[in-house]
Amino acid sequence: MRILFLGTGTSHGVPVIGCHCPVCTSSDPHDRRMRSSILIEEGDTSAVIDTGCEFRIQALGAGITHLDGVLYTHAHADHLMGLDDLRVFSSSGRFPIYGFQSVLDSISRIFPYAFQTLPYKGAPQLERNAVGEGEQFSVGGIVFTAIPVMHGMMRIAGYRFGSAAYLTDVSDILWNENRERLEGVRTLIIGALRDRPHWSHFTFQQAVDAARTIGAEKVYFTHINHETSYSDIQRRFAPYAESAYDGLEIEVD
Ligand SMILES: [Zn+2]
Ligand SMILES: [Zn+2]
Ligand SMILES: [Zn+2]
Repeated sequence: MRILFLGTGTSHGVPVIGCHCPVCTSSDPHDRRMRSSILIEEGDTSAVIDTGCEFRIQALGAGITHLDGVLYTHAHADHLMGLDDLRVFSSSGRFPIYGFQSVLDSISRIFPYAFQTLPYKGAPQLERNAVGEGEQFSVGGIVFTAIPVMHGMMRIAGYRFGSAAYLTDVSDILWNENRERLEGVRTLIIGALRDRPHWSHFTFQQAVDAARTIGAEKVYFTHINHETSYSDIQRRFAPYAESAYDGLEIEVD
């Protein structure tokens, strides 16, 4: 399976509008981060996790011409607001999206026009597929498991596929529920916001500790904010954990 990081930034993106800090003014292209999302490809199947505000730019950059489905972790704006651009994939029928029922309910409130029985011509036409906590489901030829994690006070979805897992916006892994679901995960992509503690996101160190508890062999941080540069993260945490960056491609099995 090929994973392409479409975006690796926190909700503001990096640089932050109006910010003149060293990271936001860095000349290193790794310090330009769009909202977090990944593309997963296996054989003829392509799936995306989350469609943030820059989804269109990310899809054009990655040369995406076809998608079998989009999986949503939660309905925060930085993971969702590119949804309207899925319209190009629903010209020949309803395009499938996946997520917890609560997330699909929020999406239906925010984008009611994407689910109408008599849709406005040209509007996205989406098919809601609710997945339960711990449920396995297929998108094309890829099997995913929905893994509930805490994001502050919210239960949101992470996704496991093969020996990889994508857990963004996580502040608690819920070990009692997920230990088995995460067994055998070798590549962990995990949200790590910054060094200072945050009520709804792991720090870099918390993310590394979680990865070691899972037994992951390789860790990629995502959903990173502007307080830490790419080169600084690499210097401190590589080779075990690395900062993902927009455009990074990795192979997992
Ligand atoms: Zn987020
Ligand atoms: Zn900044
Ligand atoms: Zn969030």
